[in-house]
Amino acid sequence: MISRICHKYSTCHEITDSLIFTIPRFVSSENHSFRDDILYQSFHKAERTGAGTSLVSSLVRNLLCLVCCFFSLSMFSTASLSAQNLDRVRQHIQTLTSPEFHGRGYTFCGGDKAAKYIADEFKSLGVRSFGKSYYQDFHYDMNTFPAKMWVAIDGKELQAGTDFIPGQFTPTVKASYELFLPDSLLLNDTVAFMTRYFFEDWSKKMLVIDYAQTENKEIKMFYIKVLYGNTRFGGIMELIPDELMSSVGGRQQSYPVIKVKREAFDRSAKSISIDITAKLKKNFAAKNVIGYIEGKNPDKYYVFSAHYDHIGTIGKDVYIPGAQDNASGTAMVLDLASYYTKHQPECTMVFMLFFGEEAGLLGSSYYVEHPLFPLEKIRMGFNLDMVGTGDEGITIVNSSEDDYAGVWWLLSGLNIQNKYFETIKQRGAAANSDHYPFNKKDVKFVFIYTMGPGTFYHNVKDRYETLTFTGYESLFGLLTKFVESYE
Ligand SMILES: [Zn+2]
Repeated sequence: MISRICHKYSTCHEITDSLIFTIPRFVSSENHSFRDDILYQSFHKAERTGAGTSLVSSLVRNLLCLVCCFFSLSMFSTASLSAQNLDRVRQHIQTLTSPEFHGRGYTFCGGDKAAKYIADEFKSLGVRSFGKSYYQDFHYDMNTFPAKMWVAIDGKELQAGTDFIPGQFTPTVKASYELFLPDSLLLNDTVAFMTRYFFEDWSKKMLVIDYAQTENKEIKMFYIKVLYGNTRFGGIMELIPDELMSSVGGRQQSYPVIKVKREAFDRSAKSISIDITAKLKKNFAAKNVIGYIEGKNPDKYYVFSAHYDHIGTIGKDVYIPGAQDNASGTAMVLDLASYYTKHQPECTMVFMLFFGEEAGLLGSSYYVEHPLFPLEKIRMGFNLDMVGTGDEGITIVNSSEDDYAGVWWLLSGLNIQNKYFETIKQRGAAANSDHYPFNKKDVKFVFIYTMGPGTFYHNVKDRYETLTFTGYESLFGLLTKFVESYE
């Protein structure tokens, strides 16, 4: 899932509505996953401020719909049991998150290896390609960290990936800086702070940012500017109170940003030394991997998508595995492809594995501008991003939008009928994964993620071993039954 659009200190204006739907009752909206805390600070605010009347109407609407659904469901043919193969799914995720794949990013051919793995799986399953190959090529610039990654504070070395990560726009740098941790008094006096900022020489000093030190909005805005734009400081250190969160960036700035776990930082520290190698790869060759299985009615298409890229490496020894994000979704799409090779579908099923999601939905954005078949033929798309858990149910992004009422009712009804999840959380539109470029082209596409323990986000802890797979079979069943039932 992408983190760029909804930075945790910004608001996420795309989110318009939300509702938690639970079997057999509605539960409190406080029962959300930690990821919502990380990425969507405005989400519950929107609920609190705007959901009073809409909650009531949504409840009525959904109860009515459920009645409709039960009538419809009674007419369904008995859906075949899901034939998912969890062992194979586990193998896919273990392979895609192994050191050999280097975090499926931009260094050591990690992304290319993952693309080839997917293409090989398509081939062995008998999935067809639209052109000569499964690949759809596109290019963009990317800042990478392929070699040295060394940071020491007061001579004590920090562990890359565990104690610190570089900001995504950090250039090559080999230097030492004096640390400057402003006191709370200065941070609450904007004029004094800015006077010092503009009239002193900071070029040999690194500003230490600790958001917990101040509620001053102007200072917080200043912090964001110096983290991502420019600064008179020699460099910036950002103290991270909980888990580190890596991102990718398509440019370099002129100074280093080092994100350090707050617990790894001694506030009396005086200096920092850095030796980091960064390489800006111009026109990095990325590829989407796309295949299909022709249905009895070859003119109607369903799409299952997932991004297979992730963050890549932090130096040459540390990589971000991306098990939940999104080896899990990639494996589910491959499993769906396997299923439909054995169960001849009515409609044509397309399997899209996108690259560049973490860089800003680049693969899916490229695809919708260069579609391999007319976009209007897509009856429905399901984007699967972070689906390896599920103890606390699933969230379906877009499902509370007006156009998706029928989709939501059917999914809810199937969920009840088959006793899949206790909780399905309904949520409004958001630009947070690869469904979004399709939505902008008026293609009906939802984004599903699982909720519950086992989710680590954009850091070295997002490993295969943390996934619970609790919701895997239920989600697989829900998707395949939806396709059988949707008219
Ligand atoms: Zn992500």
